Amino acid sequence: MVPKLSDERDTKLQKVIQEISKFHGKAAPGVYIGAYMVDLAQELLGSNFTKLNAISETNVCLSDAVQVMTGCTIGNKYLWLHDFGLYAMTLYDRETKDGFRVFVDYAKITNDTPTLKKFFDGSRKFDKIPRPVQQKMVVEEFLTVKRDILSFQKVKVNQPTKPKLRPLSKCDQCNDFFRTQIDQDDQNICPFCINGSNIYTFINE
Ligand SMILES: [Zn+2]
Repeated sequence: MVPKLSDERDTKLQKVIQEISKFHGKAAPGVYIGAYMVDLAQELLGSNFTKLNAISETNVCLSDAVQVMTGCTIGNKYLWLHDFGLYAMTLYDRETKDGFRVFVDYAKITNDTPTLKKFFDGSRKFDKIPRPVQQKMVVEEFLTVKRDILSFQKVKVNQPTKPKLRPLSKCDQCNDFFRTQIDQDDQNICPFCINGSNIYTFINE
């Protein structure tokens, strides 16, 4: 059973939501939903960790809520991004790997919050009510349910404690040193030279 959200936590979250919105760039629905998800995971895990690690199963707003609220980031490698495109995240202890996975439980979303329901199943139409207005409606509807649409699972995480730091290699083509990739056959040419440079069109001036 999802524990009942205390008024104290709820009040604190309002300030947290402002911080995430600032970091994220806007007060998107996912910022609100993500904040309540991370908060639930934090309450479930309590102080049962020495080093907190996180997993985000999507690269959208939720991952920003995780980073702001937990200090687990992509850069410090305490946040693992597994972009399954799911509204789900996990907090766990880096050593014991014990943690809690919190997710939006679509089955718990009722017709009392129709826009929220459509937000999660992708059936929103924007021809009558413009997107920005609907985004606000999603937030308003979510704030009437909060934790009521969330579920959680107790998990043991099957991942290494730290991502392995790959050895450096010198690229035969660009002569830069690069970290070799796990799934790379030729360790003497950097991914940028193989096909990564396609992300740019180089302008000669
Ligand atoms: Zn190269």
